[in-house]
Amino acid sequence: MTALPDNPSQRRLGLVIDLDICVGCHACAVSCKEWNTGGHMAPLTDYEAWGDSPSGVWFNRVHTYEAGDGAAGRTVHFPKSCLHCAEPACVTVCPTGASFKRGEDGIVLVNEDLCIGCKLCSWACPYGAREFDEDVGVMKKCTLCIDRIYNETLEEVERVPACVSTCPVGARHFGDLGDANSDVSKLVAERGGYDLMPELGYKPTNKYLPPRQRRESQGCAGSAAKPLPAPSADSNANRLLRWLDRALSR
Ligand code: SF4
Ligand code: SF4
Repeated sequence: MTALPDNPSQRRLGLVIDLDICVGCHACAVSCKEWNTGGHMAPLTDYEAWGDSPSGVWFNRVHTYEAGDGAAGRTVHFPKSCLHCAEPACVTVCPTGASFKRGEDGIVLVNEDLCIGCKLCSWACPYGAREFDEDVGVMKKCTLCIDRIYNETLEEVERVPACVSTCPVGARHFGDLGDANSDVSKLVAERGGYDLMPELGYKPTNKYLPPRQRRESQGCAGSAAKPLPAPSADSNANRLLRWLDRALSR
């Protein structure tokens, strides 16, 4: 079994994803695929790419759900990738040390040279964030684009994960969630950022921002939606996120 870092730094890099404004365009998923198919965990193998049932390795997938009924219902686009958990059982179950968590920035990675393809980590991940590459027989996953964020040959503005640099509506944010004064931590505090399935104790680093309250029916001239305060236990936003947790658990 594999140990977590003894003395991890306070630094915890991760993503903040705004469920209120994600339009489900899949640009983040495509950009992730494009960058990472030539990146640190390359290739991101495809199977039957031109066949009737194409599939393949994707580090970022966008799921779309209809939540609620009638006037209370809405469409929710839910981008899903590794959450770089603080207490990731995907690491501790690994029998070879292939899955590991970095002490310096909290990123969870796989060393392909050590992976024996036993898939224990994918069973241990409750978020479905691991991707098995059948062609090479090893597990792969989101690296938070370590080959971009520390890449000094790129312009500083480009040193963010590919998904963040691509999102056309600015629904994805990247930063240090271990620093309470970082922009991403302030955003989480302002908008009531949410852990997926916190009851499991994995302590995901990535956060989701809940949908805002619906606008009154005022047509195009209606006033802008107001941000919700931190959602109370039975607020609409929290009910929707609890529903999302249930959908993820299926
Ligand atoms: Fe591991 Fe899954 Fe958490 Fe990523 S989301 S660190 S794969 S448990
Ligand atoms: Fe570790 Fe690879 Fe097995 Fe996952 S599939 S637990 S990374 S050896």
